[in-house]
Amino acid sequence: MIRQAKGKTPRRPPPKKPSNNQKDPVGVYCRVRPLGAEDVECCIEVISNTTIQLHAPDGLKANRNGEFKETQYSFKKVFGIKTTQGELFEDVAKPLVEDIIHCKNGLLFTYGVTGSGKTYTMTGSPGQGGLLPRSLDMIFNSIGPYQAKRYVFKPDDKNGMEVQNQVDALLDRQKRDSQTTVPKTPTTRRIDPEFADMISPEEACKADGVDEDSSYSVFVSYIEIYNNYIYDLLEETPIDPIKPKWNGAGTPLRNNTEFIPPQSKILREDQNHNMYVAGCTEVEVKSTEEAFEVFWRGQKKRRIANTQLNRESSRSHSVFIIKLAQAPLDADGDNVLQDKNQVNVSQLCLVDLAGSERTSRTRAEGSRLREAGNINQSLMTLRTCIEVLRENQMCGTNKMVPYRDSKVTHLFKNYFDGEGKVRMVVCVNPKADDYEETLLVMRFAEMTQEVEVARPVDRPICGFAAGRRQRNQAFKEELTRRLEERGGPVDTESPTVLNQLLQSFPPLPPCVISGPNDDVTLPRLIEALEKRHKIRHMMIEEYNKTAKMLKSVLQEQDSNLLSKENFIQEQRGKLGEKEKMIQNQKNEIDRLEKKSKMLEYKIDILQKTTNIYEEDKRSLQQELESREQRLQREMSEKRRVETRMQGIVTDAKLKWEKECERRVNAKQLEMQNKLWVKDEKLKQLKAIVTEGKTENRQPQRPSRENDKVPAKRSASPSPVPTGPPVRPLHRRSHSAGGERWVDHKPTTNVDLDTVLQPNIPNAIKVNAPNEKALSKCDKYVLTHQEVASDGEIQTKLIKGEVFKTRGGGQAVQFTDIETLKQENPVASSRKRRSSGTGPDGETMEGDWTDVETRCSVALEMRAGSNLGPGYQHHGYPKRRKP
Ligand code: ADP
Ligand code: MG
Repeated sequence: MIRQAKGKTPRRPPPKKPSNNQKDPVGVYCRVRPLGAEDVECCIEVISNTTIQLHAPDGLKANRNGEFKETQYSFKKVFGIKTTQGELFEDVAKPLVEDIIHCKNGLLFTYGVTGSGKTYTMTGSPGQGGLLPRSLDMIFNSIGPYQAKRYVFKPDDKNGMEVQNQVDALLDRQKRDSQTTVPKTPTTRRIDPEFADMISPEEACKADGVDEDSSYSVFVSYIEIYNNYIYDLLEETPIDPIKPKWNGAGTPLRNNTEFIPPQSKILREDQNHNMYVAGCTEVEVKSTEEAFEVFWRGQKKRRIANTQLNRESSRSHSVFIIKLAQAPLDADGDNVLQDKNQVNVSQLCLVDLAGSERTSRTRAEGSRLREAGNINQSLMTLRTCIEVLRENQMCGTNKMVPYRDSKVTHLFKNYFDGEGKVRMVVCVNPKADDYEETLLVMRFAEMTQEVEVARPVDRPICGFAAGRRQRNQAFKEELTRRLEERGGPVDTESPTVLNQLLQSFPPLPPCVISGPNDDVTLPRLIEALEKRHKIRHMMIEEYNKTAKMLKSVLQEQDSNLLSKENFIQEQRGKLGEKEKMIQNQKNEIDRLEKKSKMLEYKIDILQKTTNIYEEDKRSLQQELESREQRLQREMSEKRRVETRMQGIVTDAKLKWEKECERRVNAKQLEMQNKLWVKDEKLKQLKAIVTEGKTENRQPQRPSRENDKVPAKRSASPSPVPTGPPVRPLHRRSHSAGGERWVDHKPTTNVDLDTVLQPNIPNAIKVNAPNEKALSKCDKYVLTHQEVASDGEIQTKLIKGEVFKTRGGGQAVQFTDIETLKQENPVASSRKRRSSGTGPDGETMEGDWTDVETRCSVALEMRAGSNLGPGYQHHGYPKRRKP
């Protein structure tokens, strides 16, 4: 009965709500009514007991380009056309009635288009009572024997219930009896024939577990919400004797013009923040018949008002509220406990909503159209509220639910905030005309199912021992039985006890008076009687004492028992809590276990992946290693081959060099010998000539042999001693200042910081020899750099003489080689030339040979003078062919 205030700031701090996390979805049921006699095409099919299928009617399909559409909707349960009212009640309303008896609220509404069977479902028709009469019947069947006397419970007009004392209740009852002509107490079943067969006693239902130690009272209210105004359908309009008004009890109006429309009511919030209709009539009813009669009265009033005010009843919402007040019996189990705090009120609201069809469907105009719009508006608000609720619950948002936008939603907002079970019966008419509207109904219904409402909690039990009513009844029965046995007036003492008591008194003396003078008998009798009187007094005292003691002992035991029972209850509550906790923890454990399993599985997969990768890595590493090893092997093999090849090359070179040297030496020797022979011949010839013509000196013909032996100042002197150099051909005459040199320094030479440098005055310095320079000079020097066998660079100054050739060109005849060499004092001195020993032996030899070759070539060129200008020079090494 308590709810948490939402949206607006509460005016008072909200009362503490029992913690309850459990939620239930709104129970949505679907009822399909049979097709009317005038309808032919059906657009709904019940597929299973939870699903229906909608298919567009033929006409609609054609309109929509033959678009064929079949949609299915599922509900908690679907009731087909053959479902009886009893079956529907069993599933839909019975649990709600059980709830109300167990102090929990319930809200049941029917939703659907006009003519879909909402009223049939809620109210029923003759012979087929709906959910409303059946619910009433079940309530009275269940609480029948435990009902409180009328007026013991009294509504406080603030949505609460008071307990009146017995005297006030009795007075109220007497007042009522005097006012009404017809006795209301249904001592005999007096049923209005108009609705008699709507209440079906043969299908009596009864709730289990009714608390016998409580007293119950049922109150009913019936309101109508039309155009967002609330009207009390049970209000007794006082009849003004002068200006008669509409009779609320449903008696025909005396005059139509005198009809005064009922005043609308307002909604209020009680101290528990529950909504109620302020000043709404609450009629206490004691039987199904009486309750239904009250409902029927309201129904008639509604009908009349609608006719009088030209309203369409399908456009109004009707709300029938069954309130059940219950309070524990006192400790004696005799009367209702006079404690307002112990009174519990639960209610079941049965709502027959207005037709859900859109305005266009009703051919309403003007103000009626506006009204229709408003009523439509209230259903729209209901839809919006449901939507927002659903969104809040599904998305965790906290949007304000617009309950206050219409009276219907405002009245029931507590239900959606978790004050009871909510159920909805969606009524559908399978006829094709309704197809489009039915689609909308289905969508709304499906959405409603997704809204969850907090489960109401159990009410705490009062502190008295159970079984009070039975004990009290048993006691009363026993008392009556005993009194009947005795056959006397109401007295608490039994006859046997009385006899025993009489016997315990001293016997009476003989009471026969002998004569007028007998003054013995009477005083004796007086004495005996006085004695008896005294004893009686004593006995009474004793009896009272004992009774008192016994009572206190009994009371003590009762309270002991009570506290024990309280303790047990408390422990039970604790146990329940603990069980809940255990359940929660179990759920948590389950969840965690699932999670851990999932994680283990993931780890497993990752482990496997890692293993695969590691395997890959290992194999790749192995491959890498093997390749490296192979590479290493190949490298060392290469090196081995290289050294072998180098050895071979060196050997071959050495061999060839030796061979060459040997041949050269042999040739030289041969030539020297020849030269010597010729020299000898020449000497002899000279001698002869000298002898003949001493003074006649002719220029000498140059000798080939002489030319071939250049005078060397280098370390390797000529093996054969030669005379002064022969001037071949036309030697240029020296200028007055001495010889003129061509100083040839190739650009490829590197600067060696040499201290001793050839300094030739008046020389023409060239990078490459040219004819112009050569023609001006008669001496030529080439500064040639090469690497010696010890790795040091040595510079050679190759000198020659410039001659004019017969063809008009210039030729250089090399005459001398000067070798300049720098040496690192640290490095061990090596032989100036050791052919083929160093790693660059080949290059060195090439260079050396090159110079020699060049000398030889120059000589030959000079000799073969027809070859043209005969100097040749290279700044780069020339490889000699082996
Ligand atoms: P609503 O209240 O939704 O406008 P009603 O309950 O008045 O519709 O139903 C219209 C008509 O259809 C009534 O005559 C009613 O008896 C009939 N009817 C509705 N549902 C059923 C049903 N399940 N079985 C038989 N008749 C039905
Ligand atoms: Mg109806």
